[in-house]
Amino acid sequence: METVWDLFRRRGYSRREFLSFVSVTASLLALPANLLMSFGRALELREKPVVIWLEFQDCAGCSESFIRSTSVMPSDVLLDFISLEYHETLMVPSGIYAEQAKEDAIKKYRGRYILIVEGALTPAEDGVYCTVGGKANHHLLREAIDGAKWIVAVGSCACWGGIPAAYPNPTGAVPISDLVEGKTVVHLPGCPPIGDVLVATLVHLIAFERLPELDSMGRPKVFYGQTIHDRCYRRSFYSAGKFASGLDDDGARKGYCLYKVGCKGPITRNACATIRWNGGLSFPIQSGHPCFGCSEPNFWDRGFIYKPLSAMPDGFGPKGMLGALAVGTLVGAGVAYMNKKQAKKGGK
Ligand code: SF4
Ligand code: SF4
Repeated sequence: METVWDLFRRRGYSRREFLSFVSVTASLLALPANLLMSFGRALELREKPVVIWLEFQDCAGCSESFIRSTSVMPSDVLLDFISLEYHETLMVPSGIYAEQAKEDAIKKYRGRYILIVEGALTPAEDGVYCTVGGKANHHLLREAIDGAKWIVAVGSCACWGGIPAAYPNPTGAVPISDLVEGKTVVHLPGCPPIGDVLVATLVHLIAFERLPELDSMGRPKVFYGQTIHDRCYRRSFYSAGKFASGLDDDGARKGYCLYKVGCKGPITRNACATIRWNGGLSFPIQSGHPCFGCSEPNFWDRGFIYKPLSAMPDGFGPKGMLGALAVGTLVGAGVAYMNKKQAKKGGK
């Protein structure tokens, strides 16, 4: 079978371009410099990964995000980079031919394929709300789990139930991990997740043949280990107690912190503030909109997109978070007050 390096050569890319792909991916994965050589060597030798991508109750936004991943590699190579044996949105065959192709791939690549699942399961009324080829979604997932080498849940719907699970959840939507036993599910939440996060996670699985380091919720720590707030470029305004009070007021125009207009960055774990979107161009906060926490469980039902965390009635996030945030805001305001006093003193 074709290796990753063979693929680059076949597509007319030079050795230099392959090495640039290796180093960009290694930096996304925050690999230490001493692993760079072995990482590149592994990618040179490893076979292209076989991927079976199932879609359940979703909007296909995660697939869109994946094929628009631009900072890791050109999108034409991206779709060649994996042997995508089944993806109902992207594959050419349809109907019984598509389903047959999937069943063949599950048999042929047993124990070797990466199973990517997008969308929530809908087990209510025996899965009648989401069927493909006459089979309910949870039966389809069960058929694919056993032979999978790795399982990746892509997007907040597959990871947590997402928007389909929002109140009153008429289809009984649940995360895919509800059906997986004895295997780890890698969670890449986001609505949608950043495409480069999925590509880099796949590259990690291929190169090292092991899972990346995960947190207690199954998310790769390298992408979800910190909150948006931890890495936000507006953080100095937060610490200085300078906040926008509306989306178009003077504070917003000056680029102040968006906490008071509902930013959920302090309790949202994602890589938007570092990897950013659209080839690293920008991310919502940089475009003037508060983060609404799309990668966190139940983000939709928590509502209050434009209300600050301190106004959430049931506490947003882990217990004690609001208290900690209130203290954080007070500290920020306190620091600002002290700074002003110092500045006045200095001016005297
Ligand atoms: S509250 Fe939001 S805008 Fe303000 S510093 Fe934190 S992440 Fe950035
Ligand atoms: S900034 Fe927040 S709401 Fe926007 S994409 Fe990132 S995690 Fe989701």
